Amino acid sequence: MSTKRDTIVDVDRRHVWHPYTATETWEKADPIVVARASGAWLEDVDGRRYIDGNSSWWVAGLGHSHPRLVKKLAEQAAELAHVTLAGTAHEHAALLAQELAGITGLEHAFYTDNGSGSIEVAIKVALQHWKNVGQPNKTRFVALDGAYHGDTLGPTSLGGVEVFRRPYASVLFECVRVPFPDPKAHERAFEAIRQLLRTEGDSIAAVIVEPIVQGAAGMRIYDPAFLKELREETKRANVLLVTDEVFAGYGRTGPMWAGEHAGITPDMMCLGKVFSSILPMAATMVSDEVFRSFRGGPETTLWYGHTFCGHPLGAALAREVLAIYREEDVLGQIARKGKRIADFFGKMKGVENARAIGMIGAAELGGTGYLGGLGWKVFEEAKKRGAYLRPLGDTIYVCPPFVIPDADLERLLGILEESVEAARKSV
Ligand SMILES: *Cc1c(COP(=O)(O)O)cnc(C)c1O
Repeated sequence: MSTKRDTIVDVDRRHVWHPYTATETWEKADPIVVARASGAWLEDVDGRRYIDGNSSWWVAGLGHSHPRLVKKLAEQAAELAHVTLAGTAHEHAALLAQELAGITGLEHAFYTDNGSGSIEVAIKVALQHWKNVGQPNKTRFVALDGAYHGDTLGPTSLGGVEVFRRPYASVLFECVRVPFPDPKAHERAFEAIRQLLRTEGDSIAAVIVEPIVQGAAGMRIYDPAFLKELREETKRANVLLVTDEVFAGYGRTGPMWAGEHAGITPDMMCLGKVFSSILPMAATMVSDEVFRSFRGGPETTLWYGHTFCGHPLGAALAREVLAIYREEDVLGQIARKGKRIADFFGKMKGVENARAIGMIGAAELGGTGYLGGLGWKVFEEAKKRGAYLRPLGDTIYVCPPFVIPDADLERLLGILEESVEAARKSV
């Protein structure tokens, strides 16, 4: 252990408030102090290396410091690092929107800084759209049990993970919650939402869902048939459907968009994370029909925008990400490695409810949910063995970079297996 490491940890403990981290846990933690990262690997200040088992919170789909992204960032910074998008236009914001329209089927892009922002935009656009078309009573939102759509107040209102909501309940807006379409209770969940849309559709602005997989709730996967039926029912009830592809998009579940499993096009789609990969940026894709309702003057204009909206660095990177998808067969790589992940989880011992889709493999340790402790024992064991495997409570999972070399994937899965065994023995 180096003095450099000790100094950073000491200063950090005194001054940095970490995301999703209990203060007293952090005071006792022995964190990895990351100095550099490349491909699927993190390296600490003492030169120890760790495989990044969750792509640094699901962002590094193309691995850390992809040479094309690093090069693009430097080139773009030298050319045009920042300009406002208020009343000006620039090449990358324009061409990115066109490229995204081509692959999402939604013609218009509204840019924000992060995934939560992309959801805030969808909420405001949905509310104002119904006002603009003369149906101002459509003001309610519907979301699934266990939903996670980000941490600003709008997404928190939609969120269905109780422990994330409780302290703020007094200021959250109403959200109608419907059961998660668990494989065993698919029909019941669908009946609930069908009833709701058919009887109360007149007061509902939009249904917002994470398509096919709920990430933060614990990698909960559901049947595409639910999404397909949801699209049909929302159309019938004249309710907007918003898919939050911030986690599931960019091939995480196999196809480019998780909505493709069900062959649907939503009215709005939220994109983030891998979208820009190394800088915070996000987009809300909006259908032409919804967009057109905002014509007509100050009353129908969307009065919304962030300072760094559509910044050139992020837009240039997001275009390079799409170029890498086209030219390096990222989806083909995901199809191949996804099979290996599914095979591994299918045979995994000492866990419950093992499941996999695309580049996600997950299982339960049978503990006490989000605040359970066994997942963190696995985390510590994995760290000793050279992998970063942050759990979701007692749900353990891998969600590695899509471009992880086969040998590194094998090593990650091997470490996971050993770490589960070691954690079980220690209790
Ligand atoms: C991470 C995430 C968000 C929020 O994105 P931020 O960039 O953290 O604000 C929204 N929805 C889903 C499904 C996510 O996984």
